[in-house]
Amino acid sequence: MIPRKSIPPAVLERVRQAAGFRCGYCHTQQKYLGARLEIDHIKPLAKGGTDDESNLWLACPICNGHKSDKTTAIDPETGQSEALFNPRTQVWTDHFMWDTDYVHLLGLTSTGRVTIAALHLNDDPDALIARMNWVSAGWHPPKEDLPPDTA
Ligand SMILES: [Zn+2]
Repeated sequence: MIPRKSIPPAVLERVRQAAGFRCGYCHTQQKYLGARLEIDHIKPLAKGGTDDESNLWLACPICNGHKSDKTTAIDPETGQSEALFNPRTQVWTDHFMWDTDYVHLLGLTSTGRVTIAALHLNDDPDALIARMNWVSAGWHPPKEDLPPDTA
């Protein structure tokens, strides 16, 4: 096995900026997280993904932990396997929207639904409690997530 080179700091900084300092999945913002957002290998290393910048994004520790080496999941609505959301090449608002409580996500597409299920975006208790508190504080959701007429 060829030893992996570490990802250059300049690449990490570009990835953090491109991701808008948010988790690519649940949109947890770095400024409200008491931990550093992690580097997400969109295609997991375990599935042949690389450290190339085009395969890197940001994820919170909760999403990253649930994502693990998953690349697909079963859509609860259709029973079909579907690829998880790719935060680098797909547009978040095409696949997800916040429910009226701003705590739970709605999947607008099969991609959205499988990602919600696989990453436990709506049922990880630690994530839900934090999100509820951020909503109370007026810190969540990020205004880019809202339709233009409500932002
Ligand atoms: Zn997340």
